[in-house]
Amino acid sequence: MQTRATDQQNGKSFRLSFEFFPPKSSEMEAQLWESVADLTAWNPEFVSVTYGAGGSTKAPTMTTVRRLLTDTPLSTASHLTCVDAPREETLSVIKELREAGVRHIVALRGDPSAGIGTAYQPHAQGYANAAELVAALKEIGGFEISVSAYPEKHPESPDAAADIEMLRRKAESGADRALTQFFFDNDVFERYMDKVRAAGITLPVVPGIMPIQNLTMLKRFAGRCGSTVPAFLDQRFSGTEDDVVARAEVAADVAAEQIEDLIRRGHSEFHIYTMNRSALTNAVLDRLGRQRVAVKAGAAA
Ligand code: FAD
Repeated sequence: MQTRATDQQNGKSFRLSFEFFPPKSSEMEAQLWESVADLTAWNPEFVSVTYGAGGSTKAPTMTTVRRLLTDTPLSTASHLTCVDAPREETLSVIKELREAGVRHIVALRGDPSAGIGTAYQPHAQGYANAAELVAALKEIGGFEISVSAYPEKHPESPDAAADIEMLRRKAESGADRALTQFFFDNDVFERYMDKVRAAGITLPVVPGIMPIQNLTMLKRFAGRCGSTVPAFLDQRFSGTEDDVVARAEVAADVAAEQIEDLIRRGHSEFHIYTMNRSALTNAVLDRLGRQRVAVKAGAAA
């Protein structure tokens, strides 16, 4: 079993988790496993693998999770959505995950099957939302449970209060932590956390950090996730359009500065959306002075 370095040994007092998605081609698969090998040296608390809403990536998610559990020392969480599935089907996926050795689930409702922005229709025999899925996992027992949180509110939420109410329901159903949707304005996150704590919710909320691989693409999907891309990012990336190296430098600076600022504000755990690439995350963590640790290959005990 890998011995986890203490924060002091690690140079900086912050904990990390990394999010990956199941690859869609052999090229993407090679990229994923190279990135996993590379990022293991940062000694994350856990890594997680996304799950396509409605089970669309069930097989590749399972394959990826199994390989992480058997071939790496990484503590591995599987995401799971309940949209478009009767309870029986969701329960059978949970059983399969458990049999594969998964002990941590990121429990989600998932996007409406007719597309983001359409009205959500729970499956008549399914779990209506993430809170119900959390309650089911809690009843089964033996899982660490993470859930989502939306500092800028979920696009379907009528208002911030409704969104925080859903977070409360997930916390009361037994969630252990929330991982946030990515955001770039730490003041927005602080205001959100003030509201969460004022509502009496004590659940740990881990900021989700998205190092920007491509600002144009980010702008295309951020709105659908309920995340704002602030104007200061245009200014930061201005002039780097034709310069890949300069763009990567700015992207690493931006994410490192965001984390540094959150550390100053008292946060000590970060969930990084790696997009299955290691170079940018490496550059961010190098800038933060985090030390790599020697890790033995092989499964975590
Ligand atoms: P919930 O927590 O159940 O609800 C989210 C918000 O929507 C609530 O705050 C509530 O106010 C509002 N809401 C819920 N139901 C309704 C309703 N019927 N009417 C009006 N408002 C409603 N998606 C995937 O498909 N696969 C993944 O692996 C995945 N991983 C994610 C990981 C993280 C950390 C995050 C932040 C998101 C992830 N998502 C993933 C996206 C997520 O599935 C979508 O945002 C989805 O629309 C909501 O799922 P949820 O679990 O956040 O929902």
